[in-house]
Amino acid sequence: MRQYGSNRYDVIVVGVGGMGSATCYYLAQRGKRVLGIERHGIPHTKGSSHGYTRIIRLAYYEDPSYVLLLRRAYELWRDIEARAGEQLLHITGSIDAGPEHEWVFQGSWESCRVHDLPHEVLTGAELRRRYPGYHLPPDHLALLQPDGGFLRPERCIISYVQAAQAEGAEIHACEQVLEWEPTAGGVRVRTDRDVYEAERLVVSAGAWNGELVDCLRDLSVPERQVLAWLQPTHLEHFLPEVFPVFNLLVDEGRFYGFPVFDVPGFKFGKYHHFEEMGGANDLDREARDDDEAMLRQFAERYFPESCGPTMNLFTNTPDHHFLIDTHPTYPQVSFASPCSGHGFKFASVIGEVMADLATTGITRHDVSLFRLERLVGAQRTPAINRPRGQGWRLNAFVRPEEIVPPW
Ligand SMILES: Cc1cc2nc3c(=O)[nH]c(=O)nc-3n(C[C@H](O)[C@H](O)[C@H](O)COP(=O)(O)OP(=O)(O)OC[C@H]3O[C@@H](n4cnc5c(N)ncnc54)[C@H](O)[C@@H]3O)c2cc1C
Repeated sequence: MRQYGSNRYDVIVVGVGGMGSATCYYLAQRGKRVLGIERHGIPHTKGSSHGYTRIIRLAYYEDPSYVLLLRRAYELWRDIEARAGEQLLHITGSIDAGPEHEWVFQGSWESCRVHDLPHEVLTGAELRRRYPGYHLPPDHLALLQPDGGFLRPERCIISYVQAAQAEGAEIHACEQVLEWEPTAGGVRVRTDRDVYEAERLVVSAGAWNGELVDCLRDLSVPERQVLAWLQPTHLEHFLPEVFPVFNLLVDEGRFYGFPVFDVPGFKFGKYHHFEEMGGANDLDREARDDDEAMLRQFAERYFPESCGPTMNLFTNTPDHHFLIDTHPTYPQVSFASPCSGHGFKFASVIGEVMADLATTGITRHDVSLFRLERLVGAQRTPAINRPRGQGWRLNAFVRPEEIVPPW
């Protein structure tokens, strides 16, 4: 039974999570007739955008070229926050720390120098005096950038969806896109409820992008992630006013974490966790004892006052890599797979980029780092790995998973 108006739209957006919700809004704001289709409820806990908090940081060790996009992302987060009338972005400062010559500290420092960002460099000992929750090795260096903080992902999605609806977008939740095909006038999309047509299609289905877009099948690989919340024994050291968000490169790997917020626990996780890849529907969604043991071992060494009983543990599958482009064969189709475990902070500006691509086919933002072409090239060319302990720059022609981490 049809509940909606005509089945013809300017743009259909598949997946109304972090990226899709923002895309729906920026398209509707431009006067486009938009349909956003989401397989689950909005928001939900089966994709990549749940868990109460996501780090946002302006210092970017992955590559200084992200900073321009981030400046715009911050502006757009502030805009949607004003429109929603609630705080979505909390500023705590951000710490990027590790051994002096390693890529996390060096890359973050370089991005500050290139873009003239305010920052301070602290030793592990100085960091602990300023922020007593941190117990880093005294000779590690920490880059403190005052604009870092965290976003509230579920509230961000809700805010974008409500703003999109107010601008006239139709949002269908609990409806699954089964397939799409090109037509003379654009695309036809078949769901488990109906068939729709549009001039343009944006695929922002997160970990499921590979199932919907043929050229992403082998490139967008879901990965299991696990997060822990521990009850601090000294809560006063883990509150947002005294605990900046962090990215740490330590002997055990690369970890990230947050102050206590919403859930009464110190939240943290390890990038790539146990490197368990698989189909988005197949990965184990239950947190296991070995997940908890590994995460707790990290906290005991670097945040010993956080290590009370476990408050919450959950898996947040899946993760995959940045890809933003138009389809090589069907220019009326574009896709956004901006993850690698660090994509949420960009959702606002990626929404704007996707709206650009779906309306004009080009964008004023420099997204060359995220083009499909670089990965196709990388498959044909031997991987060039970052030299250990020297370079840190993310090479646009190397697949992120081909970079040898320095630990
Ligand atoms: C554990 C973890 C921690 C992270 N931490 C950070 C962080 O601190 N900072 C940061 O910036 N980023 C972080 N990230 C990355 C960030 O969360 C992701 O980049 C972002 O959430 C991805 O958003 P998305 O819109 O691509 O995917 P999602 O939000 O998952 O949205 C995709 C949507 O598409 C829907 N969908 C799929 N298939 C269909 C279909 N066939 N029909 C209809 N709908 C469909 C899904 O149900 C889903 O709602 C983290 C990621 C993880 C997993």
